Order: sequence, then C-alpha cells, then structure tokens
Amino acid sequence: MEKQCEGVAVGIDLGTTYSCVAVWLEHHSRVEIIHNDQGNKTTPSYVAFTDKQRLIGDAAKNQAAINPANTIFDAKRIIGRKYSDPYIQKDKLLWPFNVVSGVDDQPTIVVQHKGQEKRLCAEEVSAMILMKMRKIAEAYLESPVKNAVITVPAYFNDSQRKATRDAGAIAGLNVMRIINEPTAAAIAYGLDKKSNCVGERNIFVFDFGGGTFDVSLLTIKDKVFKMKATAGNTHLGGEDFDNRMLNYFMQEFNKKNNVDISGNSRALRRLRNACERAKRVLSYNVDANIEIDSLFQGIDFCSSITRGRFEELNMDLFRECICTVNKCLIDANMDKNSVDDVVLVGGSSRIPKMQQLLQEFFNGKDLCRSINPDEAVAFGAAVQAALLSEGFKNVPKLVLHDITPLSLGILIKGDLMSVVIPKNTTIPVKKKQGYSTSEDNQTVIKFEVFEGERARATDNNLLGWFSLSGIPKGPKGHPVMITFEIDAMEVARLIQEAKDYEAEDKKFLEKARAKKDLDDYVYKMEKSLKDIKKSKGIITDAIIKAKSLLDGDVDQHEKDVFEKNLKELQKIFDPTMPRFKY
Ligand code: AMP
Repeated sequence: MEKQCEGVAVGIDLGTTYSCVAVWLEHHSRVEIIHNDQGNKTTPSYVAFTDKQRLIGDAAKNQAAINPANTIFDAKRIIGRKYSDPYIQKDKLLWPFNVVSGVDDQPTIVVQHKGQEKRLCAEEVSAMILMKMRKIAEAYLESPVKNAVITVPAYFNDSQRKATRDAGAIAGLNVMRIINEPTAAAIAYGLDKKSNCVGERNIFVFDFGGGTFDVSLLTIKDKVFKMKATAGNTHLGGEDFDNRMLNYFMQEFNKKNNVDISGNSRALRRLRNACERAKRVLSYNVDANIEIDSLFQGIDFCSSITRGRFEELNMDLFRECICTVNKCLIDANMDKNSVDDVVLVGGSSRIPKMQQLLQEFFNGKDLCRSINPDEAVAFGAAVQAALLSEGFKNVPKLVLHDITPLSLGILIKGDLMSVVIPKNTTIPVKKKQGYSTSEDNQTVIKFEVFEGERARATDNNLLGWFSLSGIPKGPKGHPVMITFEIDAMEVARLIQEAKDYEAEDKKFLEKARAKKDLDDYVYKMEKSLKDIKKSKGIITDAIIKAKSLLDGDVDQHEKDVFEKNLKELQKIFDPTMPRFKY
C-alpha cells in the first residue's frame, strides 16, 4: 500500500453523538483507544457557546440543559446536506438550536457567543470536534498530530464525504482517507479474531450508533477483507429511542400536571438527557427511574419505565433494522445460514431486544460481542492510518476491497438507465459494454453517466457526461464499446431506497418497452418500404399516425395506447409483408 505521510497518524470515529480517537502503538504492536481529559474513551460530539467561552465535548454536553439554544449537536446529520433537505426540515423540529438557510441553501446554525450572533456551517462544528479529538491524541502522545483517517457511515454520499474531509482540513488535519465505519469495524474484528481466520469467513457487521444504522457483509480470507454488500438507514439510531421515550414522558407529565412543556427547550433537554440515561439502564435492568427536580414551572417529575414498555415503544424500529439486515443479505445474494459471524458495533447494539431479534433472525447464532462496540470503529481507523503512514513495520498488512454502493450506468434512448457496473461490485473494477447508434448516419454519441437504482436514468444522480465522435455514417445500430473503470474509494455515494419506487419503476419500464417496440416496428416498416420502393397510401397514413404518437407528448399516454397502435400497424402491414417477421 502506498505510504501517504510521515509522523503520527490517528484514527477518528467522528460519531453523531460520540466521537472516539485511537492510535497504533508501534512498540507495543497494538491499538490504544485514547481517553479524554475526563478519563472517558468516547467524547460527546457537542459544541457549546456561552457568554465567556466555547466548550467542546463533555463540557459542552454537561451544560446543554442550561444553555440549549447555544449547544450544538447532530452536526453529522447536517453536514453535506442542503437546508431544504427534508431530513433537515424534520430534524429541525427537534433541535433546540436555530438552523436557518444560508448562502446557496446551506444550513447555517445561529448561536449567541459573547453577546454576539455567530453563524456556523456544519463543517465548522465538525472541525471543532475533530480539533478536540486531535488535542486529546496530542495530550496522550505528547507530540503533534497532523494526519488522520476519519470514518463516515457507509451511506454518506459524495457531498457528505467531501464536507467531512473539509472539516478535517479546517481542523488542520491531513485527512489521509475517509473510510466507512463498518469497514473500520471489520478491520478491528479481523485483528481481534485473526487466529480464527483460516479459510474464507463471511462476517456480518451490525453497526447501530446514536444517529445512523449500517449493516455490512464482508468476507475475510488470509487477512484480505472484501466488502460484499452494505445497507442501512442514515436516520436511525439511539437518538430515536431517546425521542420516543421523551414523547412518552412528556405526555405523562403534561397530563398529570395539565401543562405543556413541548415549547420549553431547557425542560426538553433535561428530560431527553434523563431518557438517554434510563435507556442505558434498561440494557441491564428490567426497569429504570426518572427523577428531575423542578422540570417545569417548579414541578418535579418522578416516574419509571419498564424494559417491556420501552420495547413496545420502539418495536417498529427494531423490526425495521431486521428488514435492513435481510435486504443486505438479499443484495449480497447470500443465505443467512452462510454467515459465519455476526459482529455488534455501536452503543445501540447493546439493547437486549435488538440483540434477541438479531439472534433469532440468524437462527440462534451466537453474536460476537468481543469488540467494545463504542471503540471498534476508531480501532480500525487507527490501523488503517498506520498502514498509510511511514515507519510502521509491525502493523498487520491488511488489504481492503470496497464495493460500489450504487449501480453506475448510462442513459439510453427513452431515458432508460443501462447499468454497466451493478451495485455491490468489488472495487477496483473495469467493465466493458457494447452500445449502438440509435439514428441513421449518427456520427457522435453523447453518454451521460448516472449512479443509482432507478429505472429512469434521470431519476438517478448525474455524475457527468462524455461524447464519442468519429463514428462512420451508416444505418442505426452501428456498434460501439465503452469501458467503465473505478479505482478504490473515490466513488461518489448516494443510496436511494429503490424499494419505495419499485412500482413506479415497473410502470415506467413497461411503458418504455411498449414505446420501444412500436418505435422499432415503425423503423423496420420504413426501411422495408424504402427497400421495395413501394409505398401504399394506407400504410404511409398508418406510419404517420404512429409517428405523431411517438413524437407527441408521450407522457400523456399509458402503455396500452402504444400497444394498441402497434397492433393496428401489424394488422395493416403484416399481411402485405409476410416475409417480414417482427
Ligand atoms: P455510538 O454512536 O456508537 O457512540 O452510540 C451512541 C448511542 O448508543 C447513543 O444513542 C447511546 O445512548 C447509545 N448507547 C450507549 N450505551 C447504551 C446502552 N448500554 N444501551 C442502549 N443504548 C446505549
């Protein structure tokens, strides 16, 4: 592997709720998860502004209840998105801090700092957290830290990855590589269990954090890690359980006291913190208590919740996770019985009901819990950072193969997506595909390259275009060959859940096929007519009618209109041309 830098390099898990930094210790041939100034190995991804100072990490989170409007969290949910993004609009309702639309629809966080208004973008907030993680590492290593590998969820798209890279640069870090969180966890797992890795093993990584949920299927053989498939939900995590419990207790408090605390951000923040603590307790106890002095208008709040009630409140979310697990296996075309190990990563993977459902799904298979779920991602990132650095001889030589999370293809006639490299293909990859001219005497073809799973090309994400010229003049159908090549880790990412669009896509494809059949038939008729130099008025009229249908507003018609017209033409034309079988 090409070495990218000299000096100390760390791995940073930049989490939605917590972040973690780790480093490869060459002399000890192991990874160290670095504790912060409070002695904690994870640091809240929080930044706060007060009249006097800026706070980051534990200090910021600890004062959140008394300063909710100026305490920023969830920057990872904002980074790389537009303000008008429905996710931002939905989340905005729950954030106690103010987010407004800035230049070019960029979400801008507005806080008060030292008596003045301060406007920040998510990159700046993430950079502050990265700076904090960098300082934590520098204090431990007693030397400057310049280089880092930073992790992101597998489903981060290109702009989210770029924005994370920018945040690293703002924090003064040389971002050696951005890697996927499940991939990093897999590296950690591979090290942990390297003695077991004889022959090929199929590893399923279940990564359930504070704000994101990723599952990945990969194989490990002879220290080579190969990603097979990934799936996930960019908007599902521990915070959703906190919110469900928050709503539950808010209703109880409002009903008991005939008040409404939903507009009081300080009370909400204090209740949410208590809910998060109760949720953690429910992972080892069957019930948990909530006690908050003077929650609202001087009224104390005391209540409790059982594990059963908590499970009821969130069962749909647990089941959604299992559906995603299933989807990943379907994408990888792998039976669940072929999975050798199921690895738990992320704080929310500690929830007993989640573990039970996952174990049941895998027919009772024991889940691997040997990796600390909070630390696995930073652990793997630290190994990757050492691999990319100069002077580390003891670091295990691992090889990572990533996959394309989206299909890549080109737009062909009828706005159809012609897939060249299917989703979940191992990178690097090189694929050739043949196309042909769609018009007579066509000398140039413009290829528009898209990524995504939709049948209609323009419903996918346009990556760019190129033209192929110098094609010799001739009838349509002249063959051309194009080659797609993707090198490691530089693929723009955007996963759209094609599930929701399946029905729409099917309808579109059927219509496109019907239209194409009619178009082909007309073309062949025209060609035949020219060949035999015999034009019958009735046939010409029928062609004119069909062409006006094809050239008109096709969106107005359903597929049966095209099918009906084709049948009409066949009825007129076939008896006169028995040798021409379509
Ligand atoms: P991560 O992003 O991996 O740091 O995960 C953080 C999330 O895990 C937060 O939502 C935490 O509330 C949650 N979490 C941590 N420990 C537990 C636990 N013991 N039980 C349930 N959730 C937990």
